Amino acid sequence: MIKLPQCPICKTTIAGELARQSEFLPFCSERCRRVDFFRWFDGKYAIEEPLGPLQLAEEAEKLEQRRDEL
Ligand SMILES: [Zn+2]
Repeated sequence: MIKLPQCPICKTTIAGELARQSEFLPFCSERCRRVDFFRWFDGKYAIEEPLGPLQLAEEAEKLEQRRDEL
């Protein structure tokens, strides 16, 4: 028996129509994909390890790019 994939955010089983909307995989929808992104974002900045000025500039630039994509 094939185990159907589940959205890691809302646990919706991804099958049929959802599976065909492959642009959001492994998530069921754009909403869940964004939720995952912001969870990652929060986790990253919860790490209490100071970044150097150069790293901060690089991270800020990456985040700007990501925000434009969303
Ligand atoms: Zn979902």
